[in-house]
Amino acid sequence: MSATNAGASSEPLLIRGGRIITTTENRVADVLVEGERITAIGEDLPAGQARELDARGLLVLPGCVDPHVHLDTDFGGAKTVDDFTNGTAAAAIGGTTTLINFAMQWPGQTLAQALDAWKGQIEEHPPIVDVGLHMAITDLDYAGSFDELDAITRGGIPSYKVFTAYKGSAMLSDDDLLRVMESAAANDVLVMVHAENGDIVDLLQRRALEQGHTEPRWHAATRPALAEAEATSRVIDIAHLAGASLYVVHVSCAASLERIANARAKGWRVWGETCPQYLFTDESDLERPDFEGAKYVFSPPPRTPADQEALWEGLADGVLSVVATDHVPFTFARDKQLGRDDFSAIPNGAPGIENRLQLMHHFGVRAGRFDLHRMVDLLSTTPARIFGLHPRKGTIAVGADADLVLFDPQRRHTICAATQVSHSDYSLMEGVEVVGSPTLVTVRGRIVVEDGRVVGRPGDGAYVSRAPFDPAAADAPGQPLAVDG
Ligand SMILES: [Zn+2]
Repeated sequence: MSATNAGASSEPLLIRGGRIITTTENRVADVLVEGERITAIGEDLPAGQARELDARGLLVLPGCVDPHVHLDTDFGGAKTVDDFTNGTAAAAIGGTTTLINFAMQWPGQTLAQALDAWKGQIEEHPPIVDVGLHMAITDLDYAGSFDELDAITRGGIPSYKVFTAYKGSAMLSDDDLLRVMESAAANDVLVMVHAENGDIVDLLQRRALEQGHTEPRWHAATRPALAEAEATSRVIDIAHLAGASLYVVHVSCAASLERIANARAKGWRVWGETCPQYLFTDESDLERPDFEGAKYVFSPPPRTPADQEALWEGLADGVLSVVATDHVPFTFARDKQLGRDDFSAIPNGAPGIENRLQLMHHFGVRAGRFDLHRMVDLLSTTPARIFGLHPRKGTIAVGADADLVLFDPQRRHTICAATQVSHSDYSLMEGVEVVGSPTLVTVRGRIVVEDGRVVGRPGDGAYVSRAPFDPAAADAPGQPLAVDG
């Protein structure tokens, strides 16, 4: 790990009497943190020189890992409003101690040039939590040679992102998809895919606009669930043909879930992710008056209540492996207005980085959909395993990075754009009250959130180089979940 800012080392901490929750453990114990690591776990540990933090009555969780984030990104005619400092502050307050951002390749750039530019953006606005990058390949003709691509992945970026959507900009053809996946298979790289059929979406959008349909609700009408499921099915087959491992980002609907379930039942190396917006919003939100439906324009679009239910089941039964946020912080007042007269010109995306843990605790655990172990698995352990961060991150163990969340399961919080850390001016969850919230968060032993407020400084986080993709380290398709009750 190379730090972008070598600040003073943190004081030792003794986290006293919290209930430690991992995917397999649930026990009350003390956690000693010295330097950047956890150095002891046990009962009645001597404090020595350490500052004692009273965690009685609190849960001690491994810091959450958010593998799907778009900070400081030009996308769809606008730029996301959280840079790497502010966006990681928003992550921290929600209990996320590592995020992985997409390093997009812009037109005319080689991948090496793109990566240099992204690392420059991180240096310019140093992070408060740890940050890794995925290499998003949008134009194979300009990408450079596959040798250069291999060098990038060996340098700590073992994941490519490709799109079957966004015809005319980021969309790759099937033959380019196959070439990327062959390269990934040969180099221990995971391929992440945004799966929607870009040709079909393009046709339906043009047809809708020709017929004079301009309102936000046409965003969903022109991106049908079956266009997502078709692309999901296709990329599953292309990945298998190439011998590659596949991670399907932001699964939104039952039809895509079914394709992933079938592949995993066969033992194919396919993992699925969903995001809170697909669990809590539906297509009717696009019909909100006064153009407010534009807040719900993200791709894939919000679906139906039946799809929401299928996704919850997928999280509980293991067909889905990760809950990420796809945090794309645009503003309603400025950015979303670009599509006032044309739904297809509304920048795609919504904020969400700071509420993932609260929402999964309140509506997942408290609602009885899954237990605390499964919550930790979905938000921390499995993303750490899949993305080459485990066992340094994603668990609580001696020797692991001291990325910890003290979580008060009784603390009430009302989600509200006016008080959120993200610079976006709206929240998809405005006014929703949750029970359970992080109170204190550490990143490699440094306290970055205390009393529910961000106290971390730019440079407390650092760029993280990740280990090569290892399918055996991720959860195993075809196997029942190893989660105890
Ligand atoms: Zn995304």
